[in-house]
Amino acid sequence: MINLKKIVRQNIWDLDAYTSARDEFSGSEGVFLDANENPFGTLNRYPDPYQIELKSTLAELKKVDLQNIFVGNGSDEIIDLVFRIFCNPGKDRALTFSPTYGMYDVSANINNVDLIKVPLNNSFQINIEQTIPLLNDKQLKLIFICSPNNPTGNTINQSDIAYLLENFKGIVFIDEAYIDFANNDSWIEMINQYNNLIVSQTFSKARGLAAARIGVAYTNTAIIKLLNKVKPPYNVSKLNQEAATKALKNIEEYEHNIAIILNQKETLIKALKQSNKVIQVYPSDANFLLVEVTDANTIYNALVKQKIITRNRNNLVNNCIRITIGSESENNLFITTLNNL
Ligand SMILES: *Cc1c(COP(=O)(O)O)cnc(C)c1O
Repeated sequence: MINLKKIVRQNIWDLDAYTSARDEFSGSEGVFLDANENPFGTLNRYPDPYQIELKSTLAELKKVDLQNIFVGNGSDEIIDLVFRIFCNPGKDRALTFSPTYGMYDVSANINNVDLIKVPLNNSFQINIEQTIPLLNDKQLKLIFICSPNNPTGNTINQSDIAYLLENFKGIVFIDEAYIDFANNDSWIEMINQYNNLIVSQTFSKARGLAAARIGVAYTNTAIIKLLNKVKPPYNVSKLNQEAATKALKNIEEYEHNIAIILNQKETLIKALKQSNKVIQVYPSDANFLLVEVTDANTIYNALVKQKIITRNRNNLVNNCIRITIGSESENNLFITTLNNL
């Protein structure tokens, strides 16, 4: 157990949240003369600031309490909120394991927080020996773990994450953007066991709603309260809340699409392994593949010329490009183009 008060910024701990008109009265029936809205139109009313319908659908599906759910305008908003809640600008530090998702670094920089990057080992796992001495740093408030990791695709070992949860006196943030494609269990079920755990998931990948900007954090009620205090009051639009609730209820389509993507992934792996441009395909628990090629810059640019856009990760992992699993026809066109370069 960590002492939450000790690691939250004092001004955030003391903050009185903005109380919106809809905080005082939340029913949908009535004459609303409280929020200076326009009485005409269909999108004229402010959305539910706490996204109760979406959260109750999520609660049922994920088997967690509604009180343990926070919805953000994409996970990117949640990452930024966590920096703002826990890290004093110019003073506190965060840590992550590189190579990983670029937003931790961008968000750290925006908030003027130093981000320590401990390199993953040759199997893209956490080097725990190298990490242990850093845990005693009193200014270290946050550890970001992306699992399955972007761009490497692998799941981070459970025992290493458990070690950090048990021994680090700050927040462990596990980004599970790709968990729907993996066989491993989510860390969501551990949020009541560790009071320093925040698990984030997103509607942008497996749920097919990147345009709607819906990220979800699962954590204890004390941290949920802080997230609610700091977020903009109406952070998720009504259109997006409705789109997300609708997508959640369509379980059949969700499962069907994941099955197609995973099937296509296997086909793509086989085809890539036969290509003379490919050195190796890294194992992936996600909907993308990290592929070492003969010359990443040349191949990436040649593909762009043919209007096939992959992600050049050469700067992060030598000679690697990251390929998202697309539709069958997209994947076929990609392979044919690659082989004809
Ligand atoms: C794509 C991705 C996200 C998604 O962020 P949103 O803001 O929810 O779209 C989050 N984390 C990682 C590691 C990702 O790759």
